[in-house]
Amino acid sequence: MHELSIIQSIIDTVETEVTRKGGSYRVEAVVLQIGTLAGVETGSLEFLWPAAVQNTLLDGAECQIEIVPGTAVCSDCGTGFSMINYFDPCPNCRSHLINVQTGEELKIKTIELCAQPADVPATATN
Ligand SMILES: [Zn+2]
Repeated sequence: MHELSIIQSIIDTVETEVTRKGGSYRVEAVVLQIGTLAGVETGSLEFLWPAAVQNTLLDGAECQIEIVPGTAVCSDCGTGFSMINYFDPCPNCRSHLINVQTGEELKIKTIELCAQPADVPATATN
C-alpha cells in the first residue's frame, strides 16, 4: 500500500533525526506538508498512522497534515492558476505546457519532540 510505504519512510527519517540528536526523546507530533498533486490519500495515511507507528519512536505521536494546494503557471501565456488535477490544461489558452509551482510537496515540516529522562519509562498517551 502506497500510504504505508510513505509512513515507513517518515518513520525512518524521524528515527534518524532523533538518533542523531542523541539523548532520550519522545516524538509528540509530526507535521507533514502534502501537496494536492502528490498523489497521497491523506485520509488513508491518517487511518494507517496509529498502527504503523506502533513500537517505533513515533508510537503515540500525532500526525498533523498540512495540505498544500496545487498552483501552476502556463508556459505559453504566463497565466497563473490553481491546479486541481495533475493534467489540467491552462484555463486561458488550454495549453498543456505548464510549470507546476506548488502541490507536489511530500515532506516533513516539523518534528515535535519531548525530552524525557532516560530513567523514566515512556508512558502511553492517547
Ligand atoms: Zn496558457
